[in-house]
Amino acid sequence: IVELKKVNKSFGDKQVLFDIDLTVRSGEVVVILGPSGSGKSTLCRTINRLEAINSGEIRVGGQLLPEEGKALAQLRAEVGMVFQSFNLFAHKSALENVTLGPIKVRGMSKTQAEEKGMALLRRVGVEDQAHKLPAQLSGGQQQRVAIARALAMDPKVLLFDEPTSALDPEMVNEVLDVMNDLVKAGMTMIVVTHEMGFARHAADRVVFMSDGHIVEENDPDSFFDHPRTERAKDFLSKLL
Ligand code: ATP
Ligand code: MG
Repeated sequence: IVELKKVNKSFGDKQVLFDIDLTVRSGEVVVILGPSGSGKSTLCRTINRLEAINSGEIRVGGQLLPEEGKALAQLRAEVGMVFQSFNLFAHKSALENVTLGPIKVRGMSKTQAEEKGMALLRRVGVEDQAHKLPAQLSGGQQQRVAIARALAMDPKVLLFDEPTSALDPEMVNEVLDVMNDLVKAGMTMIVVTHEMGFARHAADRVVFMSDGHIVEENDPDSFFDHPRTERAKDFLSKLL
């Protein structure tokens, strides 16, 4: 459902992604691991064109990612993204954050969008917070609203870039619980995370990046128990 072929990306004269080949099938959960600066966020951002690429191909649902315009907005709507820093609209309520996309991009009626929005807020366990502003919510609640907002567009795939890294420890699990529910529901997910428990239990595949290269790709048990490269061994040894 997501296919990258020989994707290269530079910022100025600094190349940060090198010939990235990655295929994610429908229903698959792929966890991306790697040291800081290895290009994990940049990779996520290229997948929905928050960053343009220098060469290579990215397909979502078989279609090449368009450069710009309405086609890009439509295709981008199919790739939901959840960031480390929540990125909610600060002056809109939780419910408005969730209904905005369906109303603006999908042309859904307000009533219909609100009905769907409330169902999604219920699904992530924050329906009682629907009319509050983001600043009135805890980090864990904000992140769950952000997940509901991404789901509201019925994405084909959800990208998570360190969704729990900005959270206080006691809120990490409430967000991981929601993510685990999505895994069980068969959602296609690409997840950058430092939560090794999630990686081991939820991932179908682990992709390990270092210096802009995918250096290892394996099922989680093999990756964690028998890393093949020195770089992966080194990365894992620093976690323990
Ligand atoms: P982290 O674990 O710290 O989040 P990461 O694996 O997500 O790291 P990226 O954020 O993708 O890494 O960064 C990869 C490289 O690209 C880094 O060297 C970074 O400095 C550089 N980089 C990222 N964004 C930009 C930008 N907008 N302009 C210039 N360089 C950038
Ligand atoms: Mg990052």
